Amino acid sequence: SGSMSRRQAIKAVTTYEVKTDGFPEPLADTFGRNVFSLSVMKKRLPKHVYKAVAATIEAGAAMDAALADYVAVAMKDWALEMGATHYAHVFYPLTGLTAEKHDSFLEPDSSGASLAEFAGKTLLQGEPDASSFPNGGLRGTFEARGYTGWDVTSPAYIMENPNGNTLCIPTIFISWTGEALDKKTPLLRSQQAMSKQAMRLLKLFGHDDVDTVVSYAGAEQEYFLIDEHFYYARPDLMTTSRTLFGAKPSKGQEFDDHYFGAIPDRVLAFMIELDRELFKQGIPSKTRHNEVAPGQFEIAPVFERSVLAHDHQQLMMTTMKRVAERYGMKCLLHEKPFAGVNGSGKHVNFSLGNANQGNLLNPGDTPHENMQFLTFCGAIIRAVHKYGGLLRAAVASASNDHRLGANEAPPAIISIFLGDQLMDVFDQIAKGGATGSKAAGIIELGVDTLPPLKADPGDRNRTSPFAFTGNRFEYRAPGSNQSISDPMVAINVILADSLEFISDALEKQLDAGVDLADAVQQVLMEIVLEHGAVIFNGNGYSDEWQEEAAARGLKNLRTTVDAVVEYTSPEVVEIFEKYGVLSARELKAREDVIFEYYALTLLVEAKETAEIAKTMILPAAIRYQGELASTAASLKAAGIEMQTPVLFEITRLITDLHGAMVVLDDGIAGMHGESEYEESKYARDVLIPAMAAIRAATDKLEGIVADDLWPLPTYNEMLTIL
Ligand code: ADP
Ligand code: MG
Repeated sequence: SGSMSRRQAIKAVTTYEVKTDGFPEPLADTFGRNVFSLSVMKKRLPKHVYKAVAATIEAGAAMDAALADYVAVAMKDWALEMGATHYAHVFYPLTGLTAEKHDSFLEPDSSGASLAEFAGKTLLQGEPDASSFPNGGLRGTFEARGYTGWDVTSPAYIMENPNGNTLCIPTIFISWTGEALDKKTPLLRSQQAMSKQAMRLLKLFGHDDVDTVVSYAGAEQEYFLIDEHFYYARPDLMTTSRTLFGAKPSKGQEFDDHYFGAIPDRVLAFMIELDRELFKQGIPSKTRHNEVAPGQFEIAPVFERSVLAHDHQQLMMTTMKRVAERYGMKCLLHEKPFAGVNGSGKHVNFSLGNANQGNLLNPGDTPHENMQFLTFCGAIIRAVHKYGGLLRAAVASASNDHRLGANEAPPAIISIFLGDQLMDVFDQIAKGGATGSKAAGIIELGVDTLPPLKADPGDRNRTSPFAFTGNRFEYRAPGSNQSISDPMVAINVILADSLEFISDALEKQLDAGVDLADAVQQVLMEIVLEHGAVIFNGNGYSDEWQEEAAARGLKNLRTTVDAVVEYTSPEVVEIFEKYGVLSARELKAREDVIFEYYALTLLVEAKETAEIAKTMILPAAIRYQGELASTAASLKAAGIEMQTPVLFEITRLITDLHGAMVVLDDGIAGMHGESEYEESKYARDVLIPAMAAIRAATDKLEGIVADDLWPLPTYNEMLTIL
């Protein structure tokens, strides 16, 4: 029962001792130790091979497959020296999780065992049985094969286990027709498309020496930790990763005393070991702190190329769960494991740039640099306004729906926060257009009337889903459990489209003899006038914003069902196809997979709700009702007449619960649909309200039933005993 797990958890916390034998090695030696990095390759590869690999990683150059043999040999030797017994192609299927298929380096045969051949082709291509990964109809069951292909841009690494190590090779995952079955392929494609368009624009600003522009991503990961005794006493957490029941704690996050508070010892020990593990894999973990809700924390690595950041982020999530278990805790990455307290997001900070020019979202020191900076900002404003629906779709899931628009999370409306300083600049640019004159106080690009912009604009707006934070944008809608691929793909693609739009417009004016500054001024003015409605510096959590956003014509796609159809809207299909990121078929497949998962998630939650209500909560309530009733009867027999309000209340709630259980059972039985979309809609419109009705009754029961009879650990216990 709940009280049993509470005693065990309290014991685990109170008898917890910090391990002291753990970390003999200096940090600097730890970093990247398990990575087949450029510096390892430099030592081990023939010079021309190393150069080719480096060029592919750093500048996106195509790599000659013939060189793969050299890399394979060096990689195998290194891996064996590192104690690897197996190698695995690691890939990122549409589930959003990480998948891996292991093969032994040893090839047992009749004459004993010999070392397996690990040639270029083993590195370049793997063939996992793909039939059990979601594909949205892209791969007929008659052709179960999918192929994994080495992603040269993401380094191989060793995954340690006390019983033997594994060489992990990050790959893409595609069908035999070449269609993407994963989250990585479109990320690579979109990066390339964005780079091409960014370089074209840079050329107009006089930079023709640029060979690549990369998008960078830094993801702040929020998570909860709870003692494992609670976890195993909560079948809802075990099967659905969130609590389907639980009254709001008497003390939640109202005191604001947890954010940045002192970190409990056991948690800190976990964080320290987590950092070590991440450092070994070359993941630049940097920041760790308490978050808003009790039991909630955050980890943020330093930003990296978004493709690498993606792989590292996936590995980080896996590592967090593993390390937490070593400390008797469960790491919850669900977006809303506990109703009524803060949810967990994964803010994706993004910028673009390259080694020559640095960060293109950095306001510059000269008017020329500032003009270029404003142009990139203009591209983002247009992109977010035009494709807000896509950005919303890119973060859609059953679990993130609980978070968006709830406590301390941005609303489902996608808007941009620019900060006063930048807002003012764009206002003036727009006014210049409105008056058609260059009156005093109106900014003229290209001449030095533009005030130098401070890199740290000082003001922050935590309620905006898409905020400028001085030298980057922070996309706050992604959920804690999600891959950063979908949001980054969306950002890269819509940016490619806007950059191309701007280059076209500028070229037209330059051809007509207009000078660059005037041309930029004109284009930016048009963008602000046409797309300025997406800029919002106010409180995104307010009800007024819901109304104002509607008046501005901004979409408010509250649920996954409303949002995901954006993936196949004509404008979205057009740009994805145009930039060769995903075809209409691939987009449709992704949409179907999201719907399928959405419906499935809700169905599992519904079944679990029904089961716990029936087998745990109802029996507890009836037992307590029985106790109350027999007490009342005894009192009556003893001649004591007494009011029994609690008995009446519990009887009423049990009746409510019974009624709600019948409705939910019917809902589950009626679950079917003509398509993934219809099924999702049914799940949203029938299952969610039916579960809510059950929860309304059970959460009230939790406040009445005797504590020793209550079968589930409470919110208070789970969130504060750490
Ligand atoms: P805060 O919580 O104040 O928003 P954090 O320090 O928790 O900030 O996280 C900021 C994240 O933004 C980190 O991952 C950081 O590396 C990343 N970041 C910083 N500069 C850039 C940049 N130019 N491009 C992309 N990400 C960046
Ligand atoms: Mg942070």
